Amino acid sequence: MGLFDLSGKTAVVTGAGRGLGEAIGLGLAQAGADIALVTNRTPADKAAEAIRALGRKAITIQVDVADRSKLPGIVERTVDELGRIDILVNNAGIIRRTPAADHSYADWQDVLDVNLNSVFALCQLAGNRMIEQGSGKIINIASMLSFQGGINVPGYTSSKHAVAGLTKALASEWAAKGLQVNAIAPGYMSTDNTEALREDPVRSAQILGRIPAGRWGTSEDLIGPAVFLASAASDYMNGHILAVDGGWLVR
Ligand code: NAP
Repeated sequence: MGLFDLSGKTAVVTGAGRGLGEAIGLGLAQAGADIALVTNRTPADKAAEAIRALGRKAITIQVDVADRSKLPGIVERTVDELGRIDILVNNAGIIRRTPAADHSYADWQDVLDVNLNSVFALCQLAGNRMIEQGSGKIINIASMLSFQGGINVPGYTSSKHAVAGLTKALASEWAAKGLQVNAIAPGYMSTDNTEALREDPVRSAQILGRIPAGRWGTSEDLIGPAVFLASAASDYMNGHILAVDGGWLVR
């Protein structure tokens, strides 16, 4: 299916050393793309090796995306070493769980810096290159908490609502320039991000009981949607927030 072919494309994936980002990076490489893997604390060597084993190029960039001064280097290194940037996946994210009444400003600020401020900055940096070349795909990772309030995660919910809004704002401005900006809203996926929920027997049972598919999602469940939004198959999609949630939102 040529529509989904990413041969000759280059993608930047943040948070690509583990969890959802690792699977998305590998999935885009399976579809033919070369990948710049951005990680902070997790070494990306294993993920890069898996991509190279497919015959694709992979570079690793170690950056704390909360440090705004480091973000231009991500795009510059990708263009220098892989030639161009066609796809940006803003996946890096953190969550801090405390009731709103006790939620510290430090936690609020940390979450917004990683989940929102870095996303806007990277969209701008990569988006300007994409505007120059007249094409590009941006995929922001949203959440069920782009639609719902959640429990004990006010900063996270605010950041993910804002990611949905930012996705629409950029799509609205950049569609005419040949860019598609969309988001994936994962449901409840089995990664480090949701470990505390899965270890809480009450919350875990509540969550599972509401998922029509009857199981938590896996990182691999995001590969198809990510390849779709990165490829020509989604060229007339702009500002869509694609839920990949086993039916959570329809229940
Ligand atoms: P995870 O397993 O906790 O992984 C978080 C990822 O973000 C890691 O790759 C981490 O990289 C990266 N990251 C965190 N802080 C960073 C920073 N300052 N600079 C650079 N990278 C940073 O989470 P996940 O479940 O894969 O989540 C990935 C994305 O999906 C997040 O945006 C999350 O909010 C979203 N999401 C997840 C779920 C879910 O159920 N799991 C549901 C909805 C949305 P290092 O390891 O290198 O620090």
